[in-house]
Amino acid sequence: MKKSIERIIPRPARPGMVGDGFRVYNMIPGAGISQQRISPFLLLDFNAAYDFGPSERVRGVDVHPHKGFETVTIAYQGSVAHHDSAGNSGVINPGDVQWMTAGSGILHKEYHEQEFSRRGGPFEMVQLWVNLPKKHKGEQPHYQGITAGQIQKVTLSGNAGLVNIIAGNYADVKGAADTYTPVNLFDVKLKKDGTVNFNIPATHNTALLVINGAVTIDGQTAAEHSFVLFANDGEELTIKAGTDAVLLLLSGEPINEPIVSYGPFVMNTEEEIYEAIQEFKSGKYGMLV
Ligand code: MN
Repeated sequence: MKKSIERIIPRPARPGMVGDGFRVYNMIPGAGISQQRISPFLLLDFNAAYDFGPSERVRGVDVHPHKGFETVTIAYQGSVAHHDSAGNSGVINPGDVQWMTAGSGILHKEYHEQEFSRRGGPFEMVQLWVNLPKKHKGEQPHYQGITAGQIQKVTLSGNAGLVNIIAGNYADVKGAADTYTPVNLFDVKLKKDGTVNFNIPATHNTALLVINGAVTIDGQTAAEHSFVLFANDGEELTIKAGTDAVLLLLSGEPINEPIVSYGPFVMNTEEEIYEAIQEFKSGKYGMLV
């Protein structure tokens, strides 16, 4: 059975700034999609291609905590550098994905990589937050630094394009990232008039971000930068590109637990949020300067 479109949400009128380095359109939950409706996804910030211009001083977000979920950073253009209080650091280059499990709590900072910052040029990025089920919120913080070369791709028939499998499963090919609950995350590149088919469980909450180009789904057009929320009514999804297109398809089995969200902390109860704030204030998440 076909998966139908519940809503096509246009890009918000204005972007918001995260620090001074991420100029983002907030699609989850900003577009009126509650965290419960789109569980296990908690947030989707889309930095549509934007040139901040060359800068000697790197732009970004200074030290901040996260607890109780995972942050996934997908780089399309430009490079992001990061450091965390567990001693990890690295650079996320175009095509790379960083899948960070904040788990029991971590401090990190995210900013434009220095050479990219000096050079300037288009910066295009997605940050997605994926919730952790109660039994995994206390995981030791860690991250999967997945380079473009480690992501398996499936080439579509008829020269239609390709699917990079960041997480989950497409055409019996397994994604690069390990996840705590069933999640599909596909970076899809379609050529003009190309078609791609997906088979995603009806139980999964499913959405599509049109990063570049425009596509047609079930007779409806999703314009550039729009966000498509699908109903939980079927499995089959066919997407046809009207132009060359870059798409991010996300789906996941909902985590049916209470969500109590306070900025960078996402837990199951208010008490756990107070606890997280206390832990952060008392330095339990380590040191990072
Ligand atoms: Mn962060």
